[in-house]
Amino acid sequence: TTLDDWVRECEYHKQFLIGEDEAIEYALKNSTEHGLPDVSVTPAQGKLMKFIAESIGAKRILEVGTLGGYSAIFFARALPPGGQMITLELSQEFAKVAAQNIAHAGLADKVKIIVGPAGDSMKAMHPEELFDLVFVDADKKGNPTYYTEARRLTRKGGVIIVDNVFRNCRVSDMSIKDAADLPDLEGIRTLLQMVKDDPGVDATSIPTAGEKGYDGFMYIKVL
Ligand code: SAM
Repeated sequence: TTLDDWVRECEYHKQFLIGEDEAIEYALKNSTEHGLPDVSVTPAQGKLMKFIAESIGAKRILEVGTLGGYSAIFFARALPPGGQMITLELSQEFAKVAAQNIAHAGLADKVKIIVGPAGDSMKAMHPEELFDLVFVDADKKGNPTYYTEARRLTRKGGVIIVDNVFRNCRVSDMSIKDAADLPDLEGIRTLLQMVKDDPGVDATSIPTAGEKGYDGFMYIKVL
């Protein structure tokens, strides 16, 4: 099968499972109009993330990499009354667009955006109550730092999800020596080793295919 086959297949499934969603469509359109890159999670993955947050009863969610707030909207929808989400973004411009999109979705009271390098923002966090779920989806070379901090900030029984850990099967391709994304590939390789060496977690990674290409995510359970 080719990527085109997967795109057609996903579109077919979406007709049945993913309904119209005004807030999500607005977020995409507004993000495109402001020149944000099209690298958000897919609607199918966004929905899965929401289901995961709901199934663990998440009340506090941390996201690393906001972009236009697309995944943040899915996560924030999973929160019960009084629940809170913090999302970290490097770009002031992206954060502004995300704030508009989150407000349009009626979720402004649930989501706080912190602008700056996510590693620094995470290191500065010493919350009274740990997070139930951390979603790591920023620069992939930063994954080792984000993992270290996410471990510190996630409660026992919580979940850390790391997006884009397959990169079209480039992570396992050791013949890649000087590609622009080599630091990202190395960030994912280091993350895999860190998870393997960490007795306090158990994890699995799930490859995905669809309109955003061939990739996948890692689901890490904090024991
Ligand atoms: N989670 C978003 C979604 O699905 O809608 C997509 C996030 S996008 C893949 C990655 C984001 O991480 C970009 O908006 C980028 O600006 C941000 N980013 C990159 N490096 C960062 C850093 N060092 N600190 C914080 N954010 C960073």
